Amino acid sequence: MDSDEFRQRAKQIVDYVAGYHDTIRQRRPVPDVTLGYLKPLVPAAAPEDPDKWNDIFEDIERVIMPGLTHWQSPYFHGYYPVGQSFAETCGDLLCNGLGSFGFSWITCPAATELEIVVMDWLAKMLTLPSEFLSGGKGGGILQSTASESTLVTMLTARNVMLTRMSATHGPVGRDVKEGIDGDVFSRLVAYSSDQAHLSMQRACMFSAIRLHAVESDDKERMTGPALAKAIAIDVEKGLIPFYCMATLGTTASCAFDDLKEIGPVCKKAGIWLHIDAAYAGSSFICPEFRPLLDGVEVADSFNFNPHKWLLTSFDCSALWYRDSSKTIEAFSVKEVMFSYEHEDTTIDFSHREIPFGHRFRALKLWFVLRLYGVNGLQAYVRKHVYLAQEFEKLVAADDRFEVTHPVTHGLVCFRLRQCSNDLNALFLAKLTTDRRVYLTATTSKDVYFLRFVVCWRKTEKSDILYSWNVIREVATALLEDTKK
Ligand code: PLP
Repeated sequence: MDSDEFRQRAKQIVDYVAGYHDTIRQRRPVPDVTLGYLKPLVPAAAPEDPDKWNDIFEDIERVIMPGLTHWQSPYFHGYYPVGQSFAETCGDLLCNGLGSFGFSWITCPAATELEIVVMDWLAKMLTLPSEFLSGGKGGGILQSTASESTLVTMLTARNVMLTRMSATHGPVGRDVKEGIDGDVFSRLVAYSSDQAHLSMQRACMFSAIRLHAVESDDKERMTGPALAKAIAIDVEKGLIPFYCMATLGTTASCAFDDLKEIGPVCKKAGIWLHIDAAYAGSSFICPEFRPLLDGVEVADSFNFNPHKWLLTSFDCSALWYRDSSKTIEAFSVKEVMFSYEHEDTTIDFSHREIPFGHRFRALKLWFVLRLYGVNGLQAYVRKHVYLAQEFEKLVAADDRFEVTHPVTHGLVCFRLRQCSNDLNALFLAKLTTDRRVYLTATTSKDVYFLRFVVCWRKTEKSDILYSWNVIREVATALLEDTKK
C-alpha cells in the first residue's frame, strides 16, 4: 500500500468506524456465535500473495462483526466501561501511523516529554499532591493496565524492603549474580482488602510473595484497624510486611477503602502504600468526588485507568510515584547500546517499567484532554453518575428488586428481592440468553448480585429505560415460571 492508497483506504476505515458508532443501537451488545465460529470462515493459512483490499474490507462484516462484543453499545452494562472516543481514536491513529517509539528520551524526545506533560496535567486535574508531579522526585508514567501498575509497584516495594533488610541481613537486594536471601524473601507479605481486584493475587504470584487478604467491613471497605491487626499478627509470626494496596472503587461494588485510616497504618509499619483506583479514579477530576481520594498525601504510588472511564481506549493506565528513583533502582539496567549523552538527566521510561519498549500512549490522552477539556470530561463523568442514579430509582421503585449497595458512581448493584442466589444467577442467565442487554454479576459476602454499569459515552436516559424494560420483562417471565 503506497501513501496514495493509504489516504483512500484509511478514509474508508474511518467512515466504517463512524458508521458503526452511528448505528450501534441497532446491534445487540453481545454476539450470538458458537465457539470456533471464525476458523471455518477464513483460509487455513496466510495468503501466499497479497489479498485484495476489497476482500479484506468485506470480511470485516462477514468474519469480524458476527463475533464482536459491542462494548460501546448503550445496552452493554457489564464489568466496567472500556473507554473510547473519536478524540482518542484520532490520537491513536497518529501514534500508529507515525510508528515512533520512545523507550528513552533520545529514542523519541516528543514521546517522553509529552507523556511527562500529560501526566502532570492529569495529576493537576485530580489535585494529586505536588510531590507526584514531575520536576522533583515524583512523576507519572503510562502503563498498559492497572494490573501492570500493581505488579511494578509491588516489585519496587519489594526492592525497597530487600535493600532495607541488607543493612541487617547482608546482601539481600536484587543482585542477579548473588541471588536473593531466601530467608528474608520468603517472609515478605503484602496486604489488600479481600475485595481487591484479582490482579493483586496475580502480582503476588508473579513476585512470589504471600498475600494477606484483609477482611473488609460490612461496607466492603478495608479499614485501618483491620489492616493494623493483620500486620500485627504477621509480625508476631516473624513475617516482613512491605506493601499494601488500597482500592478506591472495588470491582464488585465500587466500595472505597478507608484511605485516611490506612495511610497512617502503612507509615507506622514502614510499608509501601499503593492505591488502585482503576475505575473510580476518573471521578476524582470532579470536586464532589475528590474527597474520596483524601489520604493520598501519604501514598507512595497512585494508579487509575483512563482506558476505563476517561474516554481513552485500552490500553492506558496512569501511574504516579511519590519518589520515582525507587522504581529506577528496582528496574534499571545499563547497556552500551542504550547509552546517550545526558542520559543521567533525562527520563527514560524503560528504567521504570517491565517492557523495554514504550508505546506513545500519551498522544491519545493528549487529544482527549484537549478536545474535551476538564469541563467536558467532568460533564461526561457526571452524566454517567446521573444515569446510574436514574436506574437506581427505577429499581428501587419496583418492590420485586432491591438495590444492594450504595450507588456512588456509574454502577448499580441489585438483585431479585427475597430470592436465592441460585434464582438470581438464573435471572442473569436468562438476561444473557435474551441478548438485548448485557450485565455481569458477582458474589460478595455470600450474596449474589447483578451489576448494571453505564458504559457507553453517549448513553441517554432513553437507553437506560430500554435496558430497564428488558430487565423487568425477563424478571416477570422468570418469576411467573417459578410460581408454576
Ligand atoms: N483494579 C480494579 C479495581 C478493577 O476494577 C480492575 C478491572 O476492572 C482492575 C484493577 C484491572 O484493570 P486492568 O485490566 O487495567 O489490569
